[in-house]
Amino acid sequence: MTDAAGPDKVFRNALANQEILLPRCDDCGAYHFFPRVVCPWCHGTAISWQRASGRGRVHTTTTVRRKPERGGDYNLCMVELEEGVRMMSRVENIAPDDVVIDMEVKAFVGEAEGEPAVLFRPAEE
Ligand SMILES: [Zn+2]
Repeated sequence: MTDAAGPDKVFRNALANQEILLPRCDDCGAYHFFPRVVCPWCHGTAISWQRASGRGRVHTTTTVRRKPERGGDYNLCMVELEEGVRMMSRVENIAPDDVVIDMEVKAFVGEAEGEPAVLFRPAEE
């Protein structure tokens, strides 16, 4: 039996080493995210890990409002990476309301809720 947590573990272990890896199907060549043991496009099971370029664009964005004493407002967005996969994340180093759709962003490994996570910053800053 395949460990369902397997592919996610590869992704998280890479993040702990400051690397962003994406699963890519050897059969059809398409990337997918989140990590799975079976390609969602062709059902192939030969999955390889490729280093992400880190380049992407904001697909959707919103500002989550919080009281200042709770940490203040923050950005929540869906970023489409140039590999074609989308990730829920946030854009940092910019006021939350200044994040706009189609804005070019660059990925980095930061921290969310105490765990390494893929975060983004504006590509030009
Ligand atoms: Zn495939």
